[in-house]
Amino acid sequence: MSQRHRIEDGSKFKLSQTDPGDTGKFTSREEAEAKLKSDIEKLRLLHEKLYVDKRFSMLVVLQAMDTGGKDGTIKHVFSGVNPQGCRVTSFKKPNEEDLSHDFLWRISKALPERGTVGIFNRSHYEDVLVVRVHDLVEKSVWKKRYEAINNFEERLANEGTVIVKFFLNISKDEQLERIKFRIEDPEKRWKFTDADLKERKFWSDYQEAYEDAIQKCSTPWAPWYVVPANKKWYRNYVVANALVQTLEKLDLKMPKAKFDSDVLKDLK
Ligand code: AMP
Ligand code: MG
Repeated sequence: MSQRHRIEDGSKFKLSQTDPGDTGKFTSREEAEAKLKSDIEKLRLLHEKLYVDKRFSMLVVLQAMDTGGKDGTIKHVFSGVNPQGCRVTSFKKPNEEDLSHDFLWRISKALPERGTVGIFNRSHYEDVLVVRVHDLVEKSVWKKRYEAINNFEERLANEGTVIVKFFLNISKDEQLERIKFRIEDPEKRWKFTDADLKERKFWSDYQEAYEDAIQKCSTPWAPWYVVPANKKWYRNYVVANALVQTLEKLDLKMPKAKFDSDVLKDLK
């Protein structure tokens, strides 16, 4: 079911035509959670195979508006995965050293090695999102970044990195609910900053920037999934299912045993 949300050719993509409240064919949350549970188990096994097969790495990009659920998605979807073959990198505001290089420099340093999964909580896409919305560089500079991103991702894909990108798509109303909830909940309050309220004022600018990024950077080698994310259970299901389907296509192999099975007879 996740494939409905996959975009390989973004030329006609319109964010306004997507429904953040969509829950696919599911009639209940329980039904989706049962499927999610089985996909989490499949993901665990596929990740083990990726780890021993050593031909590929997988890069998972997560982007969303504030409160969109990037942290929650990582926590749930990867709950079965061995931390040994997995690394999460959260991209914050670039520091001075980052800014003294090109925008892909800090990204390159965080790429996963063969056999492992790299999860990007925010990514190089911030350089055509927040940077564009707040004019952090000249338009003539960010305009050229879409092509640079496509070339960068194609090079990685050609060399064995499987790239999957998720935009967790919540509605503006849902964000308001989540912000209120964060303010009221003592366990979530720390996640809330004034900046979140300030950014909300730029909602439509961000929607435009996301639409453009998805239109220009959806490719067969690095597709975007626009994930309906108002319902957390559907969001988690779609992300887990997309990862399972992507890894299944790789035909990953466990290596043959390196010993003769007769060896057991001689064991004392
Ligand atoms: P959070 O994910 O809530 O910890 O916030 C991280 C902040 O870093 C967000 O406000 C992002 O917009 C910001 N950020 C991430 N990447 C960049 C970038 N390349 N340029 C400017 N700000 C960024
Ligand atoms: Mg935040």
